[in-house]
Amino acid sequence: MDFELSPEEKAFQKEIREFLDKECNENVVAETLSLQGAGPYSKELLRKMGANRLLAPRWPEEYDGRGMGAMAEAIKVDEINSHHAPFPLDGVEIGNALLISGNEEQKKRFLPGIASGEIDIALGYTEPNAGSDIASIQLRAVEDGDHFVLNGQKIYNSEAHVCEYHWLLTRTDPTAEKKHRGLSMFIVDLKSPGITIRPLITSGGLRTNEVFYEDVHVPRENLVGEKNGGWAVIMSALYGGGGGGGLATGTKNVINTLVKYVLEEKQDADENKWIPEAMADLYVKTHVGELMGVQATAFADLKVTPPYGGGGAVSRLLSGDTRRLLYNTAMQILGPYGQLAKDSKWAPLKGEILREFMDAPRWTIVHGSQEIQKLLIATRGLGLPRK
Ligand SMILES: Cc1cc2nc3c(=O)[nH]c(=O)nc-3n(C[C@H](O)[C@H](O)[C@H](O)COP(=O)(O)OP(=O)(O)OC[C@H]3O[C@@H](n4cnc5c(N)ncnc54)[C@H](O)[C@@H]3O)c2cc1C
Repeated sequence: MDFELSPEEKAFQKEIREFLDKECNENVVAETLSLQGAGPYSKELLRKMGANRLLAPRWPEEYDGRGMGAMAEAIKVDEINSHHAPFPLDGVEIGNALLISGNEEQKKRFLPGIASGEIDIALGYTEPNAGSDIASIQLRAVEDGDHFVLNGQKIYNSEAHVCEYHWLLTRTDPTAEKKHRGLSMFIVDLKSPGITIRPLITSGGLRTNEVFYEDVHVPRENLVGEKNGGWAVIMSALYGGGGGGGLATGTKNVINTLVKYVLEEKQDADENKWIPEAMADLYVKTHVGELMGVQATAFADLKVTPPYGGGGAVSRLLSGDTRRLLYNTAMQILGPYGQLAKDSKWAPLKGEILREFMDAPRWTIVHGSQEIQKLLIATRGLGLPRK
């Protein structure tokens, strides 16, 4: 078993790291940390990344990728995270699904735009009454000649307000005996008449959105896969995605920052004696999470389901838990001053830990909640029955 990156992967890591060291300036970082979605500086950086073929390294060269493996995608995500660069990931993940489920015309129409950073696509699955149980979605698409008419609502659709398109799961057959057989997937131009996007702000200050569809006309050529075949497209999106894990440079950077802070500020008092053990615990969990992420990524390249089931379920479970533990521990180390926001001159580490602490719960929900990851491991991995 070889845990080293290949020479090609190392070269890619060096290239994207050096690129972001130079190009991810303070305006971009401020936009990313504001959690309000990709602003003009971020969009400019994404276009520059696209021009350097850094956005979709896994895609074939004919679609402006580099034909690399899942580890290149993990390296890209890791560098984006650790530089606080914008997160164009849904577009690329959706592109992975288009590569599998889209027709040639759709691939030619959308993939080069995503890879060049010109267009991004928001993920439109969740509805007020359908989250973990995606197959229960209700947004209706009714066929009418050469187009479909859409009515309904999505919720928690992140970046929809700054994306050009919506990867939209709809219901085309409400009478289907099995609810997942009545679904269809569309790519919808978010500027279409009848679409309203309203902000929804999480407790961590992240802007996500409600998206309302009222008699929105969508051309038939925007249907991805078969009518009523949306479930297969969703599965290809899950299968085509990364391994669900990878490297953990951002987390390790935070641990290093905390170690430095402890050495400088928290050495002496008896009340701080618990800190080294807690830091060692964090270090171990981060390391295990990284190894599981690398393993999940390697399995993604082999195109086989990893042991213990569910793609990157183990890795996602561990990384969500570790992130929460990291910022809980960090807040305890910082003590009462840690609760001061970044505009206070007394805020330790520029208030950054507080911001991440408030935002950390999202990582235990967004790619399927912790309970759902456990369900996947229990049913697909261990063969236990569903509850
Ligand atoms: C910040 C943020 C960004 C998001 N971005 C997007 C996005 O861009 N696009 C998009 O489509 N969605 C997005 N989501 C939605 C996200 O995918 C859902 O929130 C998630 O799938 C959970 O669905 P839900 O919120 O409806 O909770 P529910 O499914 O109602 O779950 C509520 C609770 O019940 C538990 N639960 C549910 N079913 C089971 C079960 N069978 N067994 C055990 N426990 C169970 C869950 O774990 C959870 O704790 C985002 C969510 C957040 C918070």
